[in-house]
Amino acid sequence: LGDRNITNSTITERPFRSPHHTASRTSIIGGGSRIQPGEISLAHRGVLFLDEFLEYPRSILESLRQPLEDREITISRAKGKFKFPADFILIATMNPCPCGFLGDTEKQCTCSQSQILNYQKKLSGPLLDRIDLTVSVSRVPHEQLAIKNLSLKSQHTNIQSSINKAHNLQHLRYNCSTSYNSSINSTDVDKYTSLSNKAQSFLISASKKLDLSARSYFKTIKVARTIADLEGSHTIEVSHIAESLQYRQIAAN
Ligand SMILES: [Zn+2]
Repeated sequence: LGDRNITNSTITERPFRSPHHTASRTSIIGGGSRIQPGEISLAHRGVLFLDEFLEYPRSILESLRQPLEDREITISRAKGKFKFPADFILIATMNPCPCGFLGDTEKQCTCSQSQILNYQKKLSGPLLDRIDLTVSVSRVPHEQLAIKNLSLKSQHTNIQSSINKAHNLQHLRYNCSTSYNSSINSTDVDKYTSLSNKAQSFLISASKKLDLSARSYFKTIKVARTIADLEGSHTIEVSHIAESLQYRQIAAN
């Protein structure tokens, strides 16, 4: 792990890394004159959290494409190629526009159309294609925050138990404790996911309508498999595909 001080020989907690958008490309992706792993490798088997995603330089954002696909990073140098593991869960947040109020019900967005387009263009189609879930989050009124917090506590317990059950189903499916629905190759999707006939035709017609790429098509099935697992359903039904497609709305638009 490069120059970082690791006090325990065994890492018992999943890492959570949140590099700032001013961090260098080398510190995030890895490399340097003495080859070092970057934040994406330090987040291996954990979470890489990138706040204000579009504030990161375009070169860093585009460099995430290979590790998001291959779950490792290859750094090429004159003396050879270096590979570091980079199997992380990317969690990224961004504003809908430079001022942050596009679509807000209380404050007016002050950006021009071209400012909004230039801002959103920073998130390229190929990068967005590699993200499994995109969700728009609207403002929560301050007076509701306290009430929500109380009800969230009991919801967390229920969610945790559903997640544990879904994990167990996936461990059995792939006969491995570190493989999940998201890890399977497109070629194995048919083998491990069973869609009902109705779900299959619904997905085909929705894919045409939304002009989904092949990668998005398979991601939709894999996410739907997880939704079905959370419900304890053996087969992927229309409702699971419909919910999964909702998480690709930003990508499709
Ligand atoms: Zn705005």
